[in-house]
Amino acid sequence: MHSFKEQRLYIDGEICDASSGETFANISPATGHKLCDVQIASSADVDRAVASAKNAFTDWSQLAGAQRGRVLWQAAQRLREQTDDLARLESLDTGKPVTEARLDVVGAAEVLEYFAGLVPAIHGQHINLGQSFAYTRREPLGVCAGIGAWNFPLLIASWKIGPALACGNTLVFKPSELTPLSTLRLAEILTSAGLPPGGLNVIQGPGRVGDSLIRHPSVAKASLTGSVATGKKVLNALADRVIPVTLELGGKSPLILFKDCNLRQGVTGAMLANFYCQGEICSNGTRVFVEDEIFDAFIADLLSRIRHLRIGNPLDPQTQMGALISHAHKEKVLKYIETGKNEGAHLLYGGQSPLLDAPFDFGFFLQPTVFTDCTDTMTIVREEIFGPVMSILRFKDEDEVIARANNTDFGLGAGVFTQNLQRAHRVVAQLQAGICWINNHNYAPAEIPFGAYKQSGLGRENGTAAIDHYTQIKTVYVEMGELADYP
Ligand code: NAP
Repeated sequence: MHSFKEQRLYIDGEICDASSGETFANISPATGHKLCDVQIASSADVDRAVASAKNAFTDWSQLAGAQRGRVLWQAAQRLREQTDDLARLESLDTGKPVTEARLDVVGAAEVLEYFAGLVPAIHGQHINLGQSFAYTRREPLGVCAGIGAWNFPLLIASWKIGPALACGNTLVFKPSELTPLSTLRLAEILTSAGLPPGGLNVIQGPGRVGDSLIRHPSVAKASLTGSVATGKKVLNALADRVIPVTLELGGKSPLILFKDCNLRQGVTGAMLANFYCQGEICSNGTRVFVEDEIFDAFIADLLSRIRHLRIGNPLDPQTQMGALISHAHKEKVLKYIETGKNEGAHLLYGGQSPLLDAPFDFGFFLQPTVFTDCTDTMTIVREEIFGPVMSILRFKDEDEVIARANNTDFGLGAGVFTQNLQRAHRVVAQLQAGICWINNHNYAPAEIPFGAYKQSGLGRENGTAAIDHYTQIKTVYVEMGELADYP
């Protein structure tokens, strides 16, 4: 059985005790046993973390971009060196397969490398106005608050920390209380790579700790990855101070398979878009629209392959589906499955806990689950489940499927499988989603902007677009002539 010593906070370049005297238990999703206790930050700790980040901002923001880039690059190399170790830690904490966790660590390193390379190229503009001119400066914002969800703890942290630090900001980060471990390691790695104390502070605790962090008067920007409900709370909390915010929220993304797609690839895409990371992915294509003509063939291929998904010990390199994040979350997903059945959807596959040997018999595992006979108004088709539950819907033509795909308040991702080039681009141009994939789903390398339309979020992470969200533009007008006398 795995266990760790009590986890603490990371402030001013070192691990330190919280002053609250309170802790919470961090539970292993795979076994249900306690991994460790974690200290909860008090409001005094939040103050201390923000003050330390504010202090560090003075020097960090003054460095040349290339100097900041070198620190990020160094940190990325250390992440790469520690890939096995960190992947194991992330797998234990999240319940996801270790092979997927490895890709998360490499992905986090790639994000830091991307922003390390980009930072020397961040600059303002010169605007010629004839005799006079203006120029713009891209300035950092100050102390940023980052708040993470539990499905990709290290990646989510790096998507915020990479661009924030590159642009000259400092950061206080609160991971989800369900996955507190890897961000602490990332902070240590950044310090060892040369980030000055206070450049990144990590505080721990439940939502109320995140709330007091974003409300802190010295915080200049907040970035949340979480549910739409929490996003609305954060937006409300920041309204009084009118500070910028990035929100990466939930989704109920469509994945459309046209009859002219490569069916084998389409089924692979649909399975990855629903069962990778146990289905706990914000942009998952959980509404799988299949054109009438290929419906039966799609179901046959899906059923022939789904049985072979290997569920179990997340640390086993052969495992393809691990455990859901918590008992409460598994119960929530099971409730959605019951609702699906009660509302008339047909449970084609799964819906139950797999039978596993000890110590995984007390873990939060769930079979990959597929519903057919779904309608657009069913709860399982409208609401984000955030588990391995695929809803399959039939459609007859392009206009119909576009209208149905867009008929939601969410707008995070959308996938289209077709071999018709013109159709692919025609359809994605009409889909209301921040990120669309053609003949793939969920792929999100550091180079491409990731974000949402509608209630699924605000702002963008990754790509050069992220720079806009971690800098502010100052315009400087320079008068080269003489002002006419007035009056
Ligand atoms: P969540 O319940 O909204 O929590 C997200 C984070 O916000 C956690 O750290 C949480 O703390 C904190 N929090 C809760 N209330 C807060 C408040 N009032 N003020 C400030 N912070 C607060 O979401 P989750 O269950 O962790 O994650 C699942 C959701 O995240 C899904 O909806 C998923 O789609 C979304 N997500 C979106 C993306 C994206 O890129 N768009 C990526 C991943 C996940 P505690 O949990 O520690 O209490």
